[in-house]
Parts: sequence; C-alpha cells; structure tokens
Amino acid sequence: MTKTFNLVREENIPELNSVAKLYVHKRTGARLLSVINDDENKVFSINFRTTPKDSTGVAHILEHSVLNGSQKYPVKEPFVELLKGSLATFVNAFTFPDKTCYPVASQNVQDFYNLIDVYMDAVLHPLISEQTLMQEGWHYEINDPGEPLTYKGVVFNEMKGAYSSPDGVLETRIFESLFPKHIYGVDSGGDPRHIPDLTYENFRNFWETYYHPSNSFIFFYGNDDPEYRLKLMDGYLKPYKKKKVKSIVPLAKPFKRAKKVEYPYDSGDDKGIEKKNYLVVNWKLPDTSDAVLNFSFRILGHILIGTPASPLKKALLDSGLGEDLAGIGMETELRHIVFSTGLKGTRKRHAKKIEKLIFDTLESLVRDGIDPDMIAASMNTVEFRLRENNTGSYPVGIALMRRVLTTWIHDEDPFKLLAFEEPLNAIKAKLANDNRYFEKLIQTHLLENIHRTTLRLTPDPELGRRFDEDEKARLAKIRASLNETQISELIENTRKLKLRQETPDSPEALESLPVLKLQDLEKESRNIPIDVLTIQETPVLYHDLFTNGIVYLDLGFDLHTLPKELIPLTEIFGRALFEMGTETEDYVKLAQRIGKSTGGIHADAVSASAFGSRENVLKLFVRGKATVSQAGEMLNIIRDILLKTNFDNRKRLKQIVLEEKAGLESGLVPGGHSFVNMRLRAQFGESGWAMDEMKGIGYLFALRQLAEDIDKKWKSVLKKLETMRDLLINRRALICNVTLDSANWRTIQPQFDSFLSALPSKDAKLQKYDIQPFAKKEGLTIPAQVNYVGKGANLYDLGYQHDGSAEVIVGYLRMAYLWEKIRVQGGAYGAFAAFDDRSGVFTFLSYRDPNIANTIAAYDKAADFLKHLDSSRLTENELTKAIIAAIGDLDAYQLPDAKGYTSMMRHLTGRTDEMRQKIRDEVLSTNGEDFIAFGEVLEKVAQSNSVAVLGAQSAIESANVGLEVVKVL
Ligand SMILES: [Zn+2]
Repeated sequence: MTKTFNLVREENIPELNSVAKLYVHKRTGARLLSVINDDENKVFSINFRTTPKDSTGVAHILEHSVLNGSQKYPVKEPFVELLKGSLATFVNAFTFPDKTCYPVASQNVQDFYNLIDVYMDAVLHPLISEQTLMQEGWHYEINDPGEPLTYKGVVFNEMKGAYSSPDGVLETRIFESLFPKHIYGVDSGGDPRHIPDLTYENFRNFWETYYHPSNSFIFFYGNDDPEYRLKLMDGYLKPYKKKKVKSIVPLAKPFKRAKKVEYPYDSGDDKGIEKKNYLVVNWKLPDTSDAVLNFSFRILGHILIGTPASPLKKALLDSGLGEDLAGIGMETELRHIVFSTGLKGTRKRHAKKIEKLIFDTLESLVRDGIDPDMIAASMNTVEFRLRENNTGSYPVGIALMRRVLTTWIHDEDPFKLLAFEEPLNAIKAKLANDNRYFEKLIQTHLLENIHRTTLRLTPDPELGRRFDEDEKARLAKIRASLNETQISELIENTRKLKLRQETPDSPEALESLPVLKLQDLEKESRNIPIDVLTIQETPVLYHDLFTNGIVYLDLGFDLHTLPKELIPLTEIFGRALFEMGTETEDYVKLAQRIGKSTGGIHADAVSASAFGSRENVLKLFVRGKATVSQAGEMLNIIRDILLKTNFDNRKRLKQIVLEEKAGLESGLVPGGHSFVNMRLRAQFGESGWAMDEMKGIGYLFALRQLAEDIDKKWKSVLKKLETMRDLLINRRALICNVTLDSANWRTIQPQFDSFLSALPSKDAKLQKYDIQPFAKKEGLTIPAQVNYVGKGANLYDLGYQHDGSAEVIVGYLRMAYLWEKIRVQGGAYGAFAAFDDRSGVFTFLSYRDPNIANTIAAYDKAADFLKHLDSSRLTENELTKAIIAAIGDLDAYQLPDAKGYTSMMRHLTGRTDEMRQKIRDEVLSTNGEDFIAFGEVLEKVAQSNSVAVLGAQSAIESANVGLEVVKVL
C-alpha cells in the first residue's frame, strides 16, 4: 500500500484479462485508474473535466496551446519533435464537449515514460502567453496601415473548415437543439463567429480553473510496473494542494414538448440545391451511467440502423426520399445517450413524409415485433465486438479509457462500462423473460419520449457570402474605432508573431526533449510464426497465435485467372457476394445470418509486387472471423456465398453500384493523396495498374460504365459476374490463411477440410496482362479549392539497389524537408514521400495543397537537400531520431489478426525473416553517406515525367506544367 495514494477499489476483470485499481491522490484528490495486464502497447492519459459555457472554442484552443511548449521543454511544437524520434504508437489530444484528453501509447517502457513526462509538463506548466492565443486561437492580422484587418489563427481556420462541412454543422445543431442552456448545447470546438470573443483573460482562467490535479482523471493501461505508476505521478502532483473545481455536468432539464427546428447551412453554388436538404429526428435518452440501459441502447441502435438488413435503415433507403442516412446514430459517450437518424440529399417538401416514415416504422416494430433473427444478429455483433476488442491500429487501452471516462468523468463508477459481462447477462435474462424487451425500449424511450427534436438543415447558397460580409463589417467597425497608435501596435504584434513562427527552435531547446538511445532499440526483428500446409490440394498458411478463442480466416482467390477486362469488376463482385443474397435466402436474411453467427465477413481486393521480381500478387480475399464454436457455421455461410450467390437481381446490383460510386466520389477530397498515389503507381506496371482499376480513379470510371451497362446490357453484366465466379472459385487457385492457437486449430481442422473439399477443383489458367510502364503528366479535375500533387519514378529502373537505410531517409525527408517546404512555407495541410521497396516505386505526394508548380519544384530540389546535408544539419541527435522513427515503423504494434495477415503478405511477396533482419541491421547502421547516396538517386526522379495532380481545373490549367487534363467530377 502506498503512502501517497489511497486505494479505493480493486476489481478483477476476466473478460479483459485485467486487474483494475482505482486510487485517489491523498494530497490533491487526483483520481487514478490503473489497469494492469500483459498488453505491451502501454497507454497513459491525463484527462480533465472541461465544461465551457460558450462557443468561443476555449477548450479546443487550450488543447492546441498547451502543446506549444512548456517550462521544461521550451520548443515550439514538442508534439512534432517527439514524433520525429519516438517509438510512440499513439500521440494525440482530444477535446470533447465535457472533457479534454491527452493520451500517449508506446511499446517501449523508456519511450513511454519520456512521452508521459512531456505531456505532464505540457498540461501543468505550459508556456501560454497572449502570443499563444493569437497563434492557436485568433488574432487581428494587419501588415500595413493601408490594409484592412483580418482574423487569423489555427483553430479559427480549422473550425471555418469544419463549419463548411454540412455533416459537421448538422452534428453541432443536433446538440444545440436537444440541449438548450446546457453545456452540450455550446460548441466546445468553437464557432468561428464566436471565437474572436475569447479574451486572453478567459483563456488563461480556463486553464487555471480546469487544468488542476484536483480536476484530473489519470489513466494507465498495460504491462508497465504498476507501483512505479503511482510513484511517477506523485512526483508531478505533490507540489499542488486540493482545490474545489466546479465542473460537474448537470443532467439536462426535460422538454415539456417535442420541438421542430430549422437551420441553414452553407451549400456553396446552387447546383441541384433543391435536393440537398437534411431531415433528422433526435432524441435525448437516459443518462449513460446505467450499464444495462447503455449496452441495451447500443444493441438497439445496431438493430435499427446498423446493417443493410436493419428495419429503420432499410425503410429510409428503400423509400427513395433521400440519398443516404444522416444523423449521428446512437451516441453513448456523453452524460446523456443520444439517438439521431434521418436522411440527407432530400427535398424540402419531403420533410413531413420522412418524419412520418420514421415514426411509422418504429410503431410497426412495436406493434408487429422485431424479427427475432435481427435481435439475435445485433446481440451477437455487439457482444462479439466487446469480446474481440479489436481496435485495429488504434491502441486498445485508449478505446477502453473512453468507455471508462463515460461514467468516471461524471463522478460515477468507472468500472460500470469497463466490465461488460454482467450487463450483457442481465440483458439476456431480460430478453428471456420478456421477448418484447427491445420493443418496449422503442415504445418508452423513442415513441413516448417528448425530449426530441425534428431538425431540418436547409441549403443556403448565400450563407457563406453573408457570413463573410458580416465578418468584414465587424472588422471594419473595429478598424474604425482604433487610433493610429493602436493600429501600429497591431501591425507590430502581427510582425512579432510571424517572427516567432519563422524562428527555428534553438539546438539547446531541441536537446531538452528526451530521446531514446540507439542502445535502447531491439537489435533483432520480431518474427511471426507461420506453418505452410497443404489441405485438399490447397496451400494453407497457419499462424499459431493466441486469439482469445477467435478464428481469423482469409481466403485468397487468384485474380490472374480472370481476363484483363474483368479486373475492374473485382470489388463489385466481392460486395455482391455478401449483399445480393443466395438461391435460398434474400440479402436481409443473409445479413442476419452473418450477424448472428460470425464477427463479420467481407471481401477485399489486393495487389502487391513481389520482392525483387516483376511478378505480382493479385488476389480477391474473403476475410471472416468467428468464435471457435461458430467456425462451422461461418464456413457454411462462406460456402453458400461462394457457390450460390444469386447475381440475377438487376435492381439490387444497381443500388450497390451507385452506393459504391457515391462513396468513391465523396472520398476523392478527403483521400485525394491516396487516389493520386494509385493513379501515379499505375504508370509503373501491372500491380499499380490493377490497384487503380480496383480501388482508384480507374475504378470510378469503370463503375460509371457499369451503372450504364446494368441499364442497357443487363444480360452481359450478369454473364460477366457468373464468369468471374466460374474462374475465381477454384481450390487449385486459392491460398488460405488461418490465425488461431494450436489447440483450437486442431478442433476445427476437420470442418475446414470438408469446407475445402466442397469447393470446385479445376485446372487454373493464369493470365498475363502485359502492362508496360509509361510516363505521363495527368491533371485530374474535380470541383475543389485545393490540390493533391504527386510525382514519382521507379528507383530500381534508375539503378538504385535496395538498402534498409531508405526507411530512415524517406521518413527524415518527410519530417525535415517536405514538412518545411510544402506545409510550413507552401501552406499545404500535409506532404509525404513513399517508397515501395518491393517494386522500387518512389512517390512524392501533397495533401490539401494550394500550389501545384511550386510543390513540384520543391520535390525536384529534395535531392539537393539530401546531398548537402552535413553534420551541422544532420546532427548525431537528428540521425538517431530518424533511425528510431524508422524502427518504430518496422515494429508497428499489431493485434493477432493483423499479425497473421502481415505474415501471409510477407510470404506471398517473398519478404523472408532473413531479409527483414538484414533491413533492420541496415536501418540501425544508417549514416550520413547513405543520405547523400540516396540524394544522387532522387536527382533522377526530378527528371521523371510521371506526374499526377488532382484538383480544380483552373488551377491545373494555369499551373503551366504540361498536364494533360482528364475530367473526374
Ligand atoms: Zn484542433
């Protein structure tokens, strides 16, 4: 027992393989939850309950500001500097409507403590000055007495961007409508119209009030020493005394009647405006602290709108009254649960119809009962997700922390939502006693609940202009009220701020940041177990890994069995398998069956070059997961899908194709750099070509053609899909991948054996597509304010021989050169360099970039930058940081399913463990000469004619760099 903390409670949580201990710091009252288990991906976070009373964005601006340097680490962006040389698997900060969180994660314990030290100093001793508020929040910018005033600031610009996304505006308005005169009714992110109301005094007060240990909730998770956690924290906390902080979030006052509200949003130009309305219905539900209700509502949300078979979602989409679902769904992380759904892309006059449809559907569910298969499917899906706890590359500990904070931050029991076994059992018992349990929830909490709003969000093409005019008028009025001295002060402030931004950190300040030493890094690369078996003529890769009783299965069908012209249909074929239904069940029943007895099954196309050859891996994977006891049924479902899918449903296929097309089109702006990357890589041979045709802009063009063909030549489309099934589904052109511990594998192997024997076995003829490399400068046009600029070359063709040092240099190039030229000076949001060491293709990419020609010119000077690096720029410290970051990438944290998949891809592309060790050795011994040698190769990239730009037509035409224009949107 420790002297500085009181242990309040200790719980064993078998479903999470963890022990959790809740402490209170004696001196300050700081709360600390210590979750102890064997997860290497350790998580720490300090969280404060922050409850802003207005929409000036003070909580959000402060979140940015404390990461702008602190007493012990007085650099401009400790955050960015940390990322340059850390093994962190996660570093970020979040502002919620009622809390601000500062989480970090790492697998290396020394690195973990370094990150904690930087974050603790940032929140407790930040160097926040008036200049910080100016930079991160807002300020008047004026460079010359003749100029008008303008507003500038990082959060000000960020939120202007957020307010130009209709879905973002919708979310803000939903909370505003449901929670008038309540903390949840203001925008903690900041409304650009109110951000300039924030004074330095209020900004500083907010930090002084809320960023105190007495108002903190500290969270630890993972396999680090639990006793040391307390000692470490006491060191930071002990200078403070207990303080009373008023920050509790009250429950909202109930409505006396349901409300109807309408808000405008900025829709830009007025093309197709009549079909750009939103209609959503929103409910305030009980508070989140009742675990049984909380998990029940998660399940109910999934029943109503979670899958294509969900009755409310299906009713809304089948009605044809709108294009897609809108609203925030079931929100379970705040003090109150909120449910919200409706349609976007609707006409104004359909509002009443949509509202009625929602209530009619809910009433009919109560009257006629919910399909028990739907309930079973949603129960299983929600339970599977909780048990599997698979957060992908996002650390598991942070996901758990967010669940804990949901109750803890409101002074409720933090264990309530952490342990899910008890509430799930309670729900099952309720359902066993009363088969109308979920119907009654709908009746009580949705139909009879008058704390709800019906919200219309209507497009207003003039809103943006009016907003700009208001802002200008406001600024002009302020300008007029200032005398000459005040104006010169503002000019001086603008100048000082720019000077601060342009002045690099001193080497001494940079050295203050803790950095690992090369000796702290593991020399040996970590290998993943793999056995290569043959079952029923089929190669099976097996990975003996602990998966908590879940089997992960990947079936890879060889796309080289298809003629070239069918490649662009791969993704649609994959979706059709799961979303068309089979000869014996329609797609609703099929979706329920998948939900009821698996953790999910989906298809995914993959294209990758093999190491050091021109051969490519081109496969359609069917990927499924289920508990071991469900494995037999999962295999049955997959067998039915592969052999008996009913493709002959023109209307349904058209729906899928249009949905896929809309998804791709709306993904162009948020993911522009990856579309450019695919397009560019298509110039270098088969693997890149296939990727663009299956996932990129080439695929978008193919989908448009397909939508037309479905209308005009249905018979031929149908024939193509059936040909694909005939050619692809063949166990002699298949590879299987299984990830599971050996005892469980033995029990399911016979089922797997008979599954394979049921698949057709025939001669497989593998096609050669003969895709020759070419060089082209392509300008792909879309309506957008920004561009995505790419340029690349195949370094192996230019004589470069692979060396592990490329991992270090490419990462360094990005952080040290591209960040500076493309982001800081060029004003783009991001810049990347990517090297595929299998094919040799190297690409430069930019993200949300105002420039084109300047960006390409900066790419072309990258070689020069590398060639002139000497030990004054590339210091020992900088080189070490770059090596650490590269090792961090090689050792990226992976959950067991991702490990099994990675191991399979290594096997398929010929990346052996010996080769990986060699690359690691080369990474660790990278030196200054390697940078210069790589610079020599990049010199030749400057001469490459392979360029792709996605952006506005006017920008592409006026860039004057010889782009061939192709219209995309
Ligand atoms: Zn932000």
